[in-house]
Amino acid sequence: MRDDGIAAADVAEADLVTRRGTFRSVAFRDPSDGNEHLALVLGETRGRENLLVRVHSECVTGDIFGAMRCECGDQLDAALEAIVRRGNGVLVYLRGHEGRGIGLVAKVRTHLLQDEHGLDTVDSATALGYPVDERDFGPAARVLAYLGVRSVRLMSNNLDKIRALEAHGIVVASRVPLLVQATDHNIQYLTAKRDRLGHDLPHLDAAARTGSAGGPA
Ligand SMILES: [Zn+2]
Repeated sequence: MRDDGIAAADVAEADLVTRRGTFRSVAFRDPSDGNEHLALVLGETRGRENLLVRVHSECVTGDIFGAMRCECGDQLDAALEAIVRRGNGVLVYLRGHEGRGIGLVAKVRTHLLQDEHGLDTVDSATALGYPVDERDFGPAARVLAYLGVRSVRLMSNNLDKIRALEAHGIVVASRVPLLVQATDHNIQYLTAKRDRLGHDLPHLDAAARTGSAGGPA
């Protein structure tokens, strides 16, 4: 499936100095979902093969406030640090992806069910009538095409995300695991991601064997 591109009127680019260094910020309004998303770019992208890329779903609680019940904030940090280490890459930050696309109010409702009734991240969504995953990765594919990226090394543990990007025409040359420390706070969430959503999280076995939260493999 080929997507329509992003119109010039819907993109703005400028340098963005951050505590990690100076990125090119590419803000764009997606023609399909209407949300405003952001790509942080380091180095050249046009014509690049095997470019290190993270496609990150917005998580206000984890990314901004450092919530420990999910690993989103740690993954965001680790991905940006990997791109800076490499000196080249793109982080696509997708808005409208809260709670795998159900929104912030719904996500916090699922937190309450998880805390009070012990449901996992999947059952707490379906018990409330929400879909398990509503995310559209089309905007990520469109901005990578806009940037002229030819193929990516995708930092992700989520095999479904690879399939979704490929369905939108992105060539995923390889996958780079993005394993963050399991803790007492996120272990239930990570285990559900592995067992219910098919994420590849081999370091959880080591954590279970030692009886404590272990670091990434
Ligand atoms: Zn999160």
